[in-house]
Amino acid sequence: MLTIINSFFLNLCILFTLFTISFLPFRNRPRLTPKSPLKGRILLGVQTGVVALILLANALPLEGILIDLRSIPISLAVLFGGWVSGTVAAVIFLTARFLMVTDGAYIGFYLAVLTMIGLVLPISLLRLKLDNTRNTLLVFTTISISVFGAAIYYALPLQLFYPVILAYVVMAYGGACAAYRLLQELRRHFENVQHQQQLARTDALTGIANRRLLNEAMANLNVEAKEYALILVDIDHFKRVNDTYGHDVGDDVLRELGMLLVAESEERHLVGRFGGEEFLIIMPNAKKEEVSRLAESIREKVSTFPFETSAGTLHITVSLGACHSNDIEVDSVLKHADEALYHAKESGRNRFILASQSA
Ligand code: GH3
Ligand code: MG
Ligand code: MG
Repeated sequence: MLTIINSFFLNLCILFTLFTISFLPFRNRPRLTPKSPLKGRILLGVQTGVVALILLANALPLEGILIDLRSIPISLAVLFGGWVSGTVAAVIFLTARFLMVTDGAYIGFYLAVLTMIGLVLPISLLRLKLDNTRNTLLVFTTISISVFGAAIYYALPLQLFYPVILAYVVMAYGGACAAYRLLQELRRHFENVQHQQQLARTDALTGIANRRLLNEAMANLNVEAKEYALILVDIDHFKRVNDTYGHDVGDDVLRELGMLLVAESEERHLVGRFGGEEFLIIMPNAKKEEVSRLAESIREKVSTFPFETSAGTLHITVSLGACHSNDIEVDSVLKHADEALYHAKESGRNRFILASQSA
C-alpha cells in the first residue's frame, strides 16, 4: 500500500513542479478558453501531453499496466482549452505509450487507448456546457475515476485492485483540487505583479505615464531610435489657477490636459507627466517637421479648449519647448528642450520653440 501511495505522491510532485514551470510562458497571457486562438490551445495540449507522459514515465507498473495520475493534466487541458487541447494531449500521450510497448504486451496500450477515449470524449462534451470552475474539474475527476477504475478492475486481481483504487480516488481528487488551486494562485500572483508594474509606471493623478516610465523610455531612445524628439509642455501661470480656484480645480485641469495630450499625439508617442504641471512627449523616429506640427497643434488646441472643472469651464495656455535629434545624447536633448521651453516662457508664453541645437 505504501508503495502505491508513494508512487502517486511522486506523480503529484512531478505534476506540480512541471505545472509551475510550464505556467511561466503563459503568465502574462489571458487565460485560455475553448474560444482562444487555435495556436494557444494546441500549445496547451502539447504542454499537458508532455506532462502526462512524464507522469507515465514515473508510473507504477502493476500486472502489465502502468498506473499514474495522467488524468489530471488531461482533464486540465480540456478544462481550459476544450477538446482541441485534450485531443492533442491524448495523442501525444498515446504515441509515447505505444513506443513503450515491449515484448508484444499490447494489453496495457489498448487499455490506455480505451481509457483515454473514455475520459477525453465525455469531458470534452461536458466542457461545452460547463465552465472552467473547480467543480467542473471535480466532475471530470469523477469520470476519470470511473474510467480508470474500470480499467484497473479489469486488469488487476482483487487484492491489488482495492488498495490501488483507494489511493487513486484520494490522490485524483486531492491532486486535481491542489493543481487547480496552484494554477489559480499562480495566475493571481502574476496578475498582481503586472498590476503593480502598471501602477509603478502610471501617474496617480492623470493616469498617464509617470516620470519613471518616461525616464526608462528616454534611456532606451539612444539604442532604439535613430531619430527622435522630446517635447516639454508646461502650463502657463498655473499657480494662478491654484490660487484662484483651489488645488482641486488645478488637479482637474492637469487630468484633462493629460487626456488632451494623449488624444493629440499618436500611439507610437509616449506622453507622460514629467512633474508638477509639466508634461513630456517622447517621439521616437520622428522627423523635424512632425515635431513642429504636433507641438503647434497642441498649443493651438489647448488655447481654445474648454477645460471642464468643478469651478466651471476654464481656459489655459501652454508653452512648449522641443528638441529634435539624430545623434546627440538624450540628456542633452532634454536640456535643449528645457532651454527652448524657458525661451518660450520668456518670449511671452503660449509659444512653441524648437531648440536651434537640433541636429
Ligand atoms: P509659468 O507660466 O512660468 O510656468 O508659471 P506657473 O505658475 O505655471 O509655474 P510655477 O512653477 O511658478 O508654478 C507651478 C505650480 O504648479 C505650482 C504648484 O502649486 C502647481 N502644481 C504642481 N503640481 C501640482 C498638482 O499636482 N496639482 C495642482 N493642483 N497643482 C500643482
Ligand atoms: Mg507652468
Ligand atoms: Mg513648471
